[in-house]
Amino acid sequence: MKRSRKHNDTKPHAARSKRGGSAGTPPVPPADGPAVDDGPGRMTPVALPAAFVARTRQELGDPEALALCEALEGTPPVCIRLNPAKWPRTAASTPEAEMSGRTAASEADRPDTVHAALSGSRGATPSSCGPASAEPDATSRPAGERDTAEQGAAGRPETGQNATEQNSSGRPETEQNATEQNSSGRPETEQNATEQNSSGRPETEQNATEQNSSGRPAEVRRVAGEPVAGRIPWSAEGLYLAERPSFTCDPAFHAGAYYVQEASSQFVGHLLRGAGALGARILDLCAAPGGKTTLYASLVGPDGLVVANEIDRRRARVLADNVRKWGTGNTVVTSNEPAQLARFENRFDIVAVDAPCSGEGMFRKDPQARAEWSEGSVRLCAARQAEILRAAWAALRPGGTLVYSTCTFNRTEDEGVLEELLGWAADEVVESEPIPTDPSWGIVCGRVGAFRTFRFYPHRTQGEGFFAATARKAPRTGAAIRAPKPQRQPFNPAGREARQELERWVAAPADYRFAEVAGCYYGYRAAQFEEVKALAGTLAVLYSGVAMGALYDGKLKPDPALAFHTGLDRRALPVAELSHDEAVQYLRKGDLRAEAFAEGTNLVCAGGFALGFAKRIGNRVNNLYPNSLRILKGGA
Ligand code: SAM
Repeated sequence: MKRSRKHNDTKPHAARSKRGGSAGTPPVPPADGPAVDDGPGRMTPVALPAAFVARTRQELGDPEALALCEALEGTPPVCIRLNPAKWPRTAASTPEAEMSGRTAASEADRPDTVHAALSGSRGATPSSCGPASAEPDATSRPAGERDTAEQGAAGRPETGQNATEQNSSGRPETEQNATEQNSSGRPETEQNATEQNSSGRPETEQNATEQNSSGRPAEVRRVAGEPVAGRIPWSAEGLYLAERPSFTCDPAFHAGAYYVQEASSQFVGHLLRGAGALGARILDLCAAPGGKTTLYASLVGPDGLVVANEIDRRRARVLADNVRKWGTGNTVVTSNEPAQLARFENRFDIVAVDAPCSGEGMFRKDPQARAEWSEGSVRLCAARQAEILRAAWAALRPGGTLVYSTCTFNRTEDEGVLEELLGWAADEVVESEPIPTDPSWGIVCGRVGAFRTFRFYPHRTQGEGFFAATARKAPRTGAAIRAPKPQRQPFNPAGREARQELERWVAAPADYRFAEVAGCYYGYRAAQFEEVKALAGTLAVLYSGVAMGALYDGKLKPDPALAFHTGLDRRALPVAELSHDEAVQYLRKGDLRAEAFAEGTNLVCAGGFALGFAKRIGNRVNNLYPNSLRILKGGA
């Protein structure tokens, strides 16, 4: 990681500052928080920007500002969100349960306990997979080199062109913050196997599978070997871990069984509980790397649709990888400017803007965020946010719900941009349903006109700095739903024979439509097929539905994405359950012993979670895990 150039007004506050400070000295703790790597063995702490501290004192008052600044020097909690379609639920009526498209057979093959996320309880030790501190992203290949199918805008596979690099807050690169992409610009997720018993089912003894009254998933005791420290109270699938494990060494992570997502961000799911998300069409305008996209994909259920747009093509490819792994098959990944989405007027039930911002909420976990912050970037971000919100509002249908969020504390980018929206859309903005919160969560609730707002401060809430707001667009009869004229139609409907073969691979074939795009067949839930086609006529679609694979002599050669799909019928092929260490070897694209596999193509699983495919020919096993996803570092 390189230290970024500093902008005039970002001069870090001198380390002299001490708690309480004398007159004129802001009361901030010394800079012993996040540090930038200054070369081998040298980590230089980056202090909180002085202008940030001064503004915080002014806005919050000294005691509160001190508490916030102190919290920003602490260690952030480690959080994950389970993929409900890959975990057992006892409440069959939940959208998540439906999402899995289960049949009795496919259900039986799914892990019925949480052992897998659960994995590490046995196998995921640092010694078996490199250093525990290894960041997941650092050990996998960067997105860009794809060997899974990608849909191009014109139906052609995408090539490897890159757009601008960005950091985790999505802060736009500017002259003063051009930095090498580091862990913060990579997806928050990245994934992981588990020991199994002789039946090929996950171990159960240490896992209670009872569901509690809130409809939460079964109890999970460990994730990637790390004990679960508690549940995130506003997120049914959210968990705090006691320490940060090596996610890279956890096959369940690589299987899309959970997403590494900080707690406050998961609140957007809570915001939408009353907004009729089941079956909804959600536009996620600023979507990479996909934390909220995957959450929305679980919320809307199988017949809903998430259009996940990311302006930056390179980040959009990472987003597409995470969408493939999540496996719900109800997401379209596009890479367009928000204005191009705005041409789909009055179209979406919910529009979410998780805006690129100055990233003050990341000051605790990302030293680069401190180094790159400036008052200029706050202004720049606010202008961009206002522009994105205009596009979002146009795409939102009357009666629909807008969700606006940032990971920054300043009013300019939070309440300020909402005030600006109210300036031109005033009469059209109405209140959303009340959002219940518990005082013990520590969220600061407020209002900006009809918007309900929610502030997350790390000294009050167990999560990172975050701001979220929601309101609805007033219902209006006769509002025209407009869409741009399609310029192309990349989808070729699958013929009868193709359909017959493809239907064999999904558990609920009657719910699917299949189409061929550039030699690869894709599966779509019938309810959203026409909508996806309409979007693909104009937008740059990188991925949609589920990539099924290519047909050779009428037989499907499955695409790696099909392994992750929650609607896959596991009766279509033999299932090879691997031990934790074998699974890691598979994820490294290493050699595998033939005895674990049946002749021909196998679904490779660990802890019951599907990782990909492998083909046995006699004594040889072809490891079909995509090069682009393989684990690069960490020796067994
Ligand atoms: N929602 C994502 C998640 O939960 O994983 C994080 C989104 S991040 C905060 C903001 C995203 O906005 C970045 O991926 C960034 O590339 C994108 N972005 C930057 N400039 C943009 C613009 N002008 N319009 C739309 N999106 C933009």
